[in-house]
This record gives sequence, structure tokens and C-alpha cells, in this order.
Amino acid sequence: MAKKQFKAESKRLLELMINSIYTQREIFVRELISNASDAIDKIYYKALSDDNLVFNKEDYYITVTADKDNRTLTISDTGIGMTKEDLENNLGIIAKSGSLAFKNENEAQDGHNIIGQFGVGFYSAFMVADRISVITKALGSDEAFKWESTGADGYTIAAGEKDSVGTDIILHIKENTEEDSYDEYLEEYRLKSIIKKYSDFIRFPIKMGEETVNSMVPIWRKNKNELTQEDYDNFYTDKRYGFDKPLKHIHISADGAAVYNAILYIPEQTPFDYYTKEYEKGLELYSNGVLIMDKCSDLLPDYFGFVKGMVDSADLSLNISREMLQHDRQLSLIAKNIKNKIKSQLLSLLKDEREKYDRFYKAFGRQLKYGVYSDYGTNKETLQDLLLFYSSTEKKLVTLDEYVSRMPEDQKFIYYASGESIARIEKLPQTELVADKGYEILYFTDDIDEFAIKMVMTYKEKPFKSVSSGDLGIEADASEEKSDAEESDNKELFEHMASALADKVSAVKASKRLKSHPVCLSTEGEVTIEMEKILKAMPD
Ligand code: ADP
Ligand code: MG
Repeated sequence: MAKKQFKAESKRLLELMINSIYTQREIFVRELISNASDAIDKIYYKALSDDNLVFNKEDYYITVTADKDNRTLTISDTGIGMTKEDLENNLGIIAKSGSLAFKNENEAQDGHNIIGQFGVGFYSAFMVADRISVITKALGSDEAFKWESTGADGYTIAAGEKDSVGTDIILHIKENTEEDSYDEYLEEYRLKSIIKKYSDFIRFPIKMGEETVNSMVPIWRKNKNELTQEDYDNFYTDKRYGFDKPLKHIHISADGAAVYNAILYIPEQTPFDYYTKEYEKGLELYSNGVLIMDKCSDLLPDYFGFVKGMVDSADLSLNISREMLQHDRQLSLIAKNIKNKIKSQLLSLLKDEREKYDRFYKAFGRQLKYGVYSDYGTNKETLQDLLLFYSSTEKKLVTLDEYVSRMPEDQKFIYYASGESIARIEKLPQTELVADKGYEILYFTDDIDEFAIKMVMTYKEKPFKSVSSGDLGIEADASEEKSDAEESDNKELFEHMASALADKVSAVKASKRLKSHPVCLSTEGEVTIEMEKILKAMPD
């Protein structure tokens, strides 16, 4: 049977595409600048293999010019230009990418920076323009051409006038309607900020008037030893990751299964909205130096949600609008890699710069404890060595490892006491016996502490035990018999106390753990008094 070709109503298709794939109009600037950059890159690659072609860096740049009176926005480049055939093929066939073809033909050359691949980005300009003129002259050609289109109605190609090789894309910006204003795309400051946002690391100068708007050199592609602390701090400030000075930066150039560059920061201060629903975690994601997403949340687990910074990778599977990612293997590989890097950097901060780590922990320790508690404790392996608790004997924050390494041989449990504050816990009668034994006690002053520890369960094979649990697991001594005797000798008194407190406690017992206090509360089972308080306070 003869196969029939699909017919498409191309007018309709173009309209559909233009108006449905992008969520933000400003994206058109990124697309046209990326095309201009690709056009220059193509000359650059040609020059690598063609001795007659010399690539003088200063001759290659992009200019952006807004003309309010004529309502035009022009994006020009000194790139490779287009022949008549190129115009037919690349701007006349939707979803045909000359850049993808170029990339495939030149695959042997590594380190390419060609951005284009889908063959649709150009048409995004129709979101803001009702007519587009392209005037272009291809490298090695004497003729210039003018392509023109009002979008859905098709296009025309005629002879054009242009002296030098390259392309001018002239957008005739739409008139404002009652619902929509397009004026902002004729405002210099607005255009500059869009360029800064998406195209700051395009490798060629993007000029507006005399000024070069983009910073061009992505610092993450530089060698670590070329960069100073100040460079990293400035990047943090320039990118507005925070208003503080970061505690630590992590610069990654990964070349293994996941190929990417990243610069990450551990902030010093908790953002004001950090522990609220409003806070959005995520890293900036770049593909070949072009911003794809400003908060890619898939790159960070919640418990490292405080980390700021960016990731750049050339091998992401982008969807057609480049605004979203396919959930691919590459991205999860990068995320896993990043998680491990953050962990190891925190561990080294803990080991080598304890004072800084303490500051970090004050700001974000609670998040780590939530991390241990959430997901049914699946993250405890990653996080337990990063936890700190106040120690009764050291009078400062200690790690579980430090605690266990100090345990006397006869001590079976890691003891903890929960309370509102260190001062309150110190006064708890329940701590007396354990402290008297010379055992260290961890003070849990955060709501989440005890819940998190219940997930950890044991550390280096030592189980945790609350000082208020019924059985403290401390070797019985003479005092035990004494307390048993006290109970049977004063049977009536105990019965009387039990009935007076009948709806408040489940039993009244003589205790062997009290020294200077007449009475204390203790619990049986897993849920302690402190946990119960918190559970009761939680909304149903
Ligand atoms: P993509 O960039 O994904 O290939 P576009 O729709 O943005 O898709 O562009 C389609 C094609 O048009 C490009 O692949 C390129 O061949 C050509 N093109 C677009 N803009 C320019 C330009 N400024 N200079 C030279 N060629 C261009
Ligand atoms: Mg493009």
C-alpha cells in the first residue's frame, strides 16, 4: 500500500506552537541571542579547519538595538549568515535545525558550544512581533537576502542589502492591546536584565550601544586555581544567591558518568523564609551556558535545600521549549553526584573548620534532622554523621561519633534527655542517675530531635535511650533492693498515691534513680513525655 504523507495545516501549527510552548514571552530574547551565538560559533569551528579563514575575536559580537519610534528591536550578529537555501530550509521549515545538522557534521570536534537543536526557537519571536525581517549575508557569498514573514501567512525571500557577513533580525514589535503591553521589549533596561538573566555567559560580547551587557566568561568553566575566594564571593553576590557571605563554596568539574560543572554555596545565614512553605529550594540550571531554569528543585534533596548555586551541563535532554527537562538519567546522576559532594564537603567542614560548621549547624541543623526523620529514615546513612547535639559533659555541641568514642566500656546506651532548653534539662531529676554514673547525656532541645533519633535507632551499634525511660539499662546495685523494699514496706502509701493520681499516671513506683529529687516522671515504651507533648500540639 502506498504510504501517504501527513498533511499539516502549517499556519495553524505555527500559531499553536508559538502560543503554547513557552510560558514566558521574554524567552524570545534568549532564543535569538542563542542563534546569533551559534552563527558566530560556526565561523569559529570552520576557522579551526580552514587555513584561509582567520578568527579574530574582536570581529565577532552581537548587538541589540531598540528603536521606540519605529517600534523595532534588532538583533544583529557577525556570524556565518544564511544563503537563500539556508533561509528556505532553516527559517522556511518549522522544526528544521541548521545548527543540529552542523553539530552532527562536525561531531569530531569536541567542546562545541552550539546551542540550537530543535528548529523552533526562532519562531518564538512571533510572541512579541507581528512582522519579522531577516537580512543576511552568508560567509563566502556576495549576495544578501531579505526574508520576511508575518507569521502564519508564510514568508517571502527577496534580494537584500548588506555589506558585511552576518545576520540582522528585525522584529516589528506588536502594538499594545487592551490586555497586553509589548512596550517593555523596547526598553533598554528591561532588555538588559533579560539578557543578563539568560544569556550572561554567551561567549561573545552582546552589545547595547557602547556597553557590553554580558559577562561572557562562565567562572565555573575556569580552573579552580585561577580563581580566588573573592571571585567566588562576588559570583554569589552578583547572582543574588543571598545577601550574606557564603560559609563555603564547592566547585565541581565532573567528568565521569555525569559530565557537568557546578558552583555551589553553603550560605551562612538562614534565609528569612527558610522554614516556611514559601521557600523554594533549587539550583540554577544551564545548558551550554544558557539559563534553562532558575530553580531546578530536582537537583537537591530537601535536606540540602539550603544549598545555592548553579549547574551547567551540555548533555541534558531538554524539552522543546528548553524551559523544562525531561526527567532523564543524566539529571538524576548529576543530582546524586551533587548530593554526595555536598555531604563530603560538610564532613570536611566539620572535621577541619569546626567553628564554621557550628555556625552552619545553627542555621541549618534543623533541616538535617528533618531529613533524618522524613522518608522513613532512608536518609539516615547520609546524614547521621552530620548531626550535632549538646553534651552534658562537654558543654558544647558534639557529634554522635565523638559521643560513642568517649563511652566507657560498661555503658550500653547513648543517653539523651529532652526538654525546652539546656537549663531546663539540667534540672531534670531523670538525668541524675545517668550523670552520676559518669555517663554523658545528649540534650535534645529541638522538637524534631527525638523523632529524628528514633529513626537513627542505633549509632555504631549503640542504641539510644531516653533518661526518662523506665529501664535505664544501668547495672543494678544495692539501691535497687532498697527501693523494692521501700515499696513493699509502704504499700498503703503507694496505693494511696496511685489512686490520687489515677487519671494522670499509669503507676506509682519507688525509684532507684533519684538522688536529690523526691519524685520524677518516667515513661514506658517508645513515646516519651516530650514527644507526647509535641504530638499533642500538632494539628490533626
Ligand atoms: P535551532 O536554533 O534550535 O536550530 P531555531 O528555530 O532557533 O532553531 O533556528 C533555526 C535555524 O535557523 C538554525 O538552526 C540556524 O540554522 C538558522 N538561524 C537562525 N538564526 C540564525 C542566525 N542569526 N544566523 C545564522 N543562522 C541562523
Ligand atoms: Mg535557536
